[in-house]
Amino acid sequence: MNAPFESRSNASRSAVLASLSLEEKASLTSGADFWNTKAIPGAGVRSMLLTDGPHGVRRQAEGDDHVGLHASVPATCFPPAVALGSTWDPELLARIGKALGTEAKAGGVSVLLGPGINIKRSPLGGRNFEYVSEDPVLTGELGTALVNGIQSQGVGASLKHFAVNNQESDRLRVSADVDPRPLREIYLRGFQKVVTAAQPWTVMCSYNRINGVYASEDPWLLSEVLRGEWGFTGLVVSDWGAVNDRVKGLSAGMDLEMPASGGITDAQIVDAVKNGTLDEAVLDTAVARVLDLADRTATVRAASDGGASFDVDAHHALAREAAGRSIVLLKNEDGFLPLDPSSTGTIAVIGEYARTPRYQGGGSSLVNPTRLENALDAISSLSAAEVVFAPGYVPGEDTPDTALISAAADAARGAGTVVLFLGSELESEGYDRTGIGLPAAHRALLDAVLDANPATAVVLSNGGVVGTDGWDHRVPALLEGWLLGQAGGPATADVLFGLANPSGRLAETIPHRLQDTPAYLDFPGEHSHVRYGEGLFVGYRHYDSRDLDVAYPFGHGLSYTTFAYANPALAADDGGITVRVDVTNTGTRAGHEVVQAYTSVPGSAFVRPRRELKGFAVVHLEPGQSTTAGIRLERADLTVWHPVQGRWVLEGGEYTVEVGASSRDIRQTATIRLDGDDLTAPLTRDSTLIEWLDHPAGGPVLSRILQDSATAGNQLAAMLNEPEGRALIGSFPLGRLAAFPGSPLTPATIDELTARIDE
Ligand code: BGC
Repeated sequence: MNAPFESRSNASRSAVLASLSLEEKASLTSGADFWNTKAIPGAGVRSMLLTDGPHGVRRQAEGDDHVGLHASVPATCFPPAVALGSTWDPELLARIGKALGTEAKAGGVSVLLGPGINIKRSPLGGRNFEYVSEDPVLTGELGTALVNGIQSQGVGASLKHFAVNNQESDRLRVSADVDPRPLREIYLRGFQKVVTAAQPWTVMCSYNRINGVYASEDPWLLSEVLRGEWGFTGLVVSDWGAVNDRVKGLSAGMDLEMPASGGITDAQIVDAVKNGTLDEAVLDTAVARVLDLADRTATVRAASDGGASFDVDAHHALAREAAGRSIVLLKNEDGFLPLDPSSTGTIAVIGEYARTPRYQGGGSSLVNPTRLENALDAISSLSAAEVVFAPGYVPGEDTPDTALISAAADAARGAGTVVLFLGSELESEGYDRTGIGLPAAHRALLDAVLDANPATAVVLSNGGVVGTDGWDHRVPALLEGWLLGQAGGPATADVLFGLANPSGRLAETIPHRLQDTPAYLDFPGEHSHVRYGEGLFVGYRHYDSRDLDVAYPFGHGLSYTTFAYANPALAADDGGITVRVDVTNTGTRAGHEVVQAYTSVPGSAFVRPRRELKGFAVVHLEPGQSTTAGIRLERADLTVWHPVQGRWVLEGGEYTVEVGASSRDIRQTATIRLDGDDLTAPLTRDSTLIEWLDHPAGGPVLSRILQDSATAGNQLAAMLNEPEGRALIGSFPLGRLAAFPGSPLTPATIDELTARIDE
């Protein structure tokens, strides 16, 4: 009899593999149905259940689909990644990951399909609500925390969508055409951080192509980089329907195709082995990874067979805590907020989203919540004032509803204070947004309410950035509520009335205009190609480098208290830089501060953004309390991808570290010298005169030859000694000089010289 998975050793796993027929092995590399892998009971191979999604468990009991059409079993709907990103808090995200893992395990789910960590390249990205940030270091840190939390429960995470999947337009075919440096430093860096720090048990390859090659069949991506460079030991699963050429994909390192392929691609694999185009060993490797994943997730089966459950109330409370920590106070003139809960009078709560929360986006991540609480009820129970409500709009209706708007304006006019709930609507997997403005119905309501009563706090509910230009100057207080999950209503009320002190910080810039955004001219491309023309300059890297004014900068978020920064100190070691800075709560309320550290390298030989986030720390301080925040800037995060040498390098020199409360609110600056890698390129006949002269070995040799040679050489040496002459002639490759009349260097001398330096 075959041993059960739980006790299977490597040796017996090999024995299982050896006992399987070619057909059985091929069958294990694709799904049994929409969500389950295949079982081969005779060989002791049981199936695994893989389920969405990033911010809650979407386990479908009846009717399967991957775009959120059929309901799923109730699960806690935590705030989606757009909100969690604003917490900047890995400790909190690890707890959410653990809760997700617990719920998955209770439902017999072996792999939870998340987190999604693609970079927000454009605010139009339809799935931006499922992603964390425009910055790879923040993304990587938070993704690591989620994966660690999920996997602490014996459930596998699936890091997705690997890679460069930053738009929905033509998502199944489009080629993201991106240069090596942004590819490595922006789009892959977050994945690299999570894989190296947390080893997710699975990685989900994306639908799109990268520089012309499908992610699902790219050996460079799936084998060379993911496994070879980063040491990934888990299984690669396809996004649902991402397989283009199954045999090619298997050879490239794409182990498991999901969902089922009706046996079609299994047969292709069998044929390929039989006709010699696919080495059976490649198939064996993929099958071993499937068996390995089943071993790793063995306790899931035991738990769900044993009737494991989860604490619905505790998870709801955690969802509420996370929602509260995600809210970003963008603006608060003259301390308009918090409202005093003991004040009597009338508060007008306006906007249907106060009563019918907009709390998650559409598509495969759609969670059926265990409960749903709204802000209107929470405000009514917190406040001593009379609360009147007016819906103002019908969700999904873009045309302003004049009757609803006029009723809302009347309610606003009769109230002391107004809290107005607005937001975006068209956000889902499958398509991108076409603009960042408020829906026309919301905008018309906003104007009418402000005309009726300027004492209005606005609360936004949106998954992608909403532009605030043209109206936020009229609003005394503005809360960015993102999509907050099932407990966002009471969390919002807590912030409005000061029971919670807002501590969210923007994980993405809010620009003035869509036209200012870095990918504006390229997004979403044409004819199945999208050129990443902005290169490294994504998000604040673009706005800060161009010194372009923005509505609300990356990292921004106000608090009901204030913080002062002092005494920055830097220390370098082989692993990076440690930043220490004293932070004091100078206000009257306890609160969290997110201390951010950005670096730059003045005079760098590399193209670099004005500043780049390399680390951060969250501190919680009582009024008057101080602490020393410690921020680690990892060496790996300080390196750049050398576009010519094709490797990560640390440039030596003076590093500036800016410590602040946003990318535009730098409070302290310090510098430190780092010893870098040897970046000297080998000298060739294509190296320029300056490169030769600056080279530690080549310089002296060439100078001597020039000086020792006849007049022309002497003249050249003299010219190169003068700044103007150096600028004029120094960019000549040595080889080109050989052809010049009277050149002191001949092709033969250059070959001899190059050979001498190489020795
Ligand atoms: C999505 C994935 C999801 C999968 C399964 C795909 O359409 O891109 O994020 O995990 O479906 O639902």
